[in-house]
Amino acid sequence: MPDDDRTVTAPQPAANRERPDPKAIDRKARLRIPSNLPPKQAPADRAHNWDEVYFLFDPEIAKVEATRCIQCPAAPCTKACPVHNDIPGAFWLLEHDDIAGAADVFRETSALPEMCGRLCPQERLCEGHCVVGKNAPPVAIGKLEVFVTEWQRTHAPPAPRCAERRSGRSVAIVGSGPAGIGAAQRLATAGHHVVMFEAWPLPGGLLRYGIPDFKQNKPAVDRVFAELAALGVEVRTDTRVGDTVPVEQLGAEYDAVFLAFGATEGSRLGIAHEDAPGAYGATEFLVRGNLEPHELPEAMSAPLPAFQSVVVIGGGDTSMDCVRTARRLGAPTVTLVYRRTEAEMQGRVEERRHAVEEGVQFEFLTAPLEVLLDEAGAVRGLRCRRMRLGEPDESGRARPEPIPDSEFDIPADALVVAIGYNVDQEWGEIAPAVHRDRWNRIVVNPETMHTNVRGVFAGGDDVNGADLVVTALADGQKAAAAIDAFLRDGIWSRFELL
Ligand code: SF4
Repeated sequence: MPDDDRTVTAPQPAANRERPDPKAIDRKARLRIPSNLPPKQAPADRAHNWDEVYFLFDPEIAKVEATRCIQCPAAPCTKACPVHNDIPGAFWLLEHDDIAGAADVFRETSALPEMCGRLCPQERLCEGHCVVGKNAPPVAIGKLEVFVTEWQRTHAPPAPRCAERRSGRSVAIVGSGPAGIGAAQRLATAGHHVVMFEAWPLPGGLLRYGIPDFKQNKPAVDRVFAELAALGVEVRTDTRVGDTVPVEQLGAEYDAVFLAFGATEGSRLGIAHEDAPGAYGATEFLVRGNLEPHELPEAMSAPLPAFQSVVVIGGGDTSMDCVRTARRLGAPTVTLVYRRTEAEMQGRVEERRHAVEEGVQFEFLTAPLEVLLDEAGAVRGLRCRRMRLGEPDESGRARPEPIPDSEFDIPADALVVAIGYNVDQEWGEIAPAVHRDRWNRIVVNPETMHTNVRGVFAGGDDVNGADLVVTALADGQKAAAAIDAFLRDGIWSRFELL
């Protein structure tokens, strides 16, 4: 590929950014400022529409909330953030009226700040480590991140930032979800030619097909790909590597490959009749409930029927997405079944609160036993058993144990299984030279994300198992730095086994 000239608009490095004098910060006064959140839709309204729950912060209120940050030099929030956003640095600019500057701070370290601000479990990450949060609500880091970056898009859209010259090297990225986006943005910015391969009809992976509109609107996903296109990134949709494109072809045509196809195989319950009509995997339920037929593969393009009673099994964010989607599809009764208590649930507290506000019922300490069928063989309910908590298991969480003679039935005309995702088994056959572990996850050098095949890197859920958007993004960005070094060091002889 010939070199060409590109505009350079380098962001200001964090190390050079002006910092407040810690002695000049009146921490006591800042700690007295009441916390603020942006307005949100009333539950009775939002349970009947697909719009996001929260509106954006008012700029003046956002500035006040940013001023609650006490600018601690150690910044534990930054350390707890998987992409290490300079949160105090951004909020210092915001409180001094430089909203676009604050947005640029987030963009320095994150290719998806608008989405991470909406989707991260902040109580476990940045906000969970906020010093202000020890005695008061933490600074609303995620919602301020969304505010400054969305404000910037509307008022001062960031220009594409590219290297001065093209490198002449090319990278194939398999998958267009958060890990692929993080890598593509960084690699294209560094001057490499990037082609993304996406099996579904539209790009975005989990961000488009796994996250409902009421958490993350789809135009925001479209904007990400418009920006990647402006950087010269090509996206080939409806293209399944190993099927439409043989994996060997990538080896022949590109100087490096980044595998970022995620973990998309839904876990199964292993109980009777779980494939009966009316029983759905979480992905099928979410995409058929949330997307238009033309946005879906033909096999999934039929809209879902109307339901009276939906039971969702699971305890993470995907199960919350399913129960809240069921309410928006009009189901009057929606029940979540989870075998432990709320304290052991892995998803975001806020999502659970929203689900309860929207009328979802929770059956804790309840395990599914059998899908009940009607005369036509379709789902009519779920037989369950009550559980109690025993000793901790290998994950450290209390192990649920069955209570004898505690069976009961929940009537339902739809059942959704949302108990987690695994790496797709077929990837072992598509790229057999790439080493995997016993759970089919790709094995990489954690420093470089390099697999055992020279020139083939991997990151995100196909390496970690199903995890957060922000951890996949962090992997993609880290892999991009390693791929860039690999290509520039001239050690790019293709696809030898290491
Ligand atoms: Fe917090 Fe996530 Fe934003 Fe990091 S990316 S600052 S963890 S919301």
